[in-house]
Amino acid sequence: RFITIEGGEGAGKSTQVVLLAEALRSRGVTVVTTREPGGSEGAEAIRSLLVSGETGRWDGITEALLHFAARRDHLLRSVWPALERGEWVISDRFADSTLAYQGFGHGLPAETIASLYQIAVGRFIPDLTLILDLPVEEGLKRAGIRGGDEDRYERMGVGFHQRLRQGFLDIAADNPQRCAVIDATPVSDVVHRVVLATVEARLSL
Ligand code: C5P
Repeated sequence: RFITIEGGEGAGKSTQVVLLAEALRSRGVTVVTTREPGGSEGAEAIRSLLVSGETGRWDGITEALLHFAARRDHLLRSVWPALERGEWVISDRFADSTLAYQGFGHGLPAETIASLYQIAVGRFIPDLTLILDLPVEEGLKRAGIRGGDEDRYERMGVGFHQRLRQGFLDIAADNPQRCAVIDATPVSDVVHRVVLATVEARLSL
């Protein structure tokens, strides 16, 4: 099974990945946790090109190509081999982040991203995508408190983060079979219980 966890800044994705992996392991499931951009040696090298650069270093298409190049390496080297071994994979971000950030956020056409997906990934899709939803102001506050780079968020502007949030909600509405929206406002233990209940219900665990 391949589960992806998506959401904007400060939504608590990485915490939920850890808590979900622990819960699944205690049920006897072998779980691999990973993240994007990254999750394999080559993809982590591409991640450093993406996240260390100044905003505006890459044009939108170049940025999307780098994300999909990283994604293909991640799938080939990490995700697909683990799934072949019968393990479950939980990824902190996957392709919905590219559509939300580079598409809804930065204005790249959805068809462009869909074409790149077809080339780099093919027909493969996650079994379940959990979208952690949070009001933008709350997310930015949490991300700031965590010691994130506020400068970068300010440069992006609140409007960007609003488009991002709405983008994730639109993706969920367009893919109801695959996606579940989870309110990320409560404390992480409460969010985790909803996450686990959703995984149990959707993947008949
Ligand atoms: O998941 P995480 O928050 O660690 O993501 C690292 C950074 O990459 C974040 O600042 C996020 O805004 C950015 N990102 C992006 N486009 C994506 C995925 C992540 O700009 N498609």
